[in-house]
Amino acid sequence: MAFMTKPIVANSLASLGYIGSKLDRISEQRRDRARIEAAMNHPDAGVYALAGDIILLRKRGDILDPLLSPAEARSFGEPLQTMFVGLAGEAARSAISIAPETAERAKANGGYAAIDLRSVAVQGLAHQHLPALASAKSVLLWHASHRFCANCGMPTQSIEAGWRRDCPNCGEHHFPRVDPCVIMLAIDGDRCLLGRSHRFLPNMWSCLAGFVEPGESFEESVRRETKEETGIEVGEMRYFASQPWPFPMSMMVAFHAEAKTTDLTIDWKELEGARWFDRDELRLMFAGKHPDGLFVPPPVAIAHHIIRAYAENGAAVLA
Ligand SMILES: [Zn+2]
Repeated sequence: MAFMTKPIVANSLASLGYIGSKLDRISEQRRDRARIEAAMNHPDAGVYALAGDIILLRKRGDILDPLLSPAEARSFGEPLQTMFVGLAGEAARSAISIAPETAERAKANGGYAAIDLRSVAVQGLAHQHLPALASAKSVLLWHASHRFCANCGMPTQSIEAGWRRDCPNCGEHHFPRVDPCVIMLAIDGDRCLLGRSHRFLPNMWSCLAGFVEPGESFEESVRRETKEETGIEVGEMRYFASQPWPFPMSMMVAFHAEAKTTDLTIDWKELEGARWFDRDELRLMFAGKHPDGLFVPPPVAIAHHIIRAYAENGAAVLA
């Protein structure tokens, strides 16, 4: 009898946060001011208002809606920064940066909630808006921290509808950053390696992760980070998926990796703990039935999906 295997990504990535944007970025047309202005003046245009990490959400009955009308956005006064996010049909989705006091005032006056992006995502509020909010949060934060040219120190100007800053003094072009990070699950047959960072919620265990360094491939970064944090050497690995992670502007690149050693030497500065979990224990964690109350990150995070794919498929994820 043929042995049937489930597809590796048995769980849908639909619940993964910050991906799946339906907006058209029209990146090659951002320099066309008339085009962008027409889209922003479209009757169906919508605006996201952010104060750093905080999203302003309009209370519409029982719904908290982050997409404000241009008139609502104008009621907050002159924004600190405006950017074009993308097109929904012919109508723009744009984002503005407002001062924290402005967000607080809107909340105090009623009609609005002010919630940080991480909580908005974890609570499942406005899931369809998360990709646009991720773009907006990362790019607006980049504007706030790149007002001066890194080359000559003079003030820079926002151009291309908020997707580039130019220095009028030395001519340097500055583009929004994306910081690549690897996130990986080392696998030893029927068990896998999870760790706990010092900043995790109590009882939450997750994949190891770390920033890619200049001059390093993703694979080399997976091997280095796993070895540094836990002493485990990994060999072959398989790409799983990627996810923009707007805290502040990372790109998570996920792998399943084969462990070649099993003795742990934990870097206690980086981790509060690391240990092997077998698939039965993972299933209890996903079911919310772990005897010690241990759990994995929520579906909005890619770690959830990497671990779930292994819990469901075992080492076949490496095949
Ligand atoms: Zn300059």
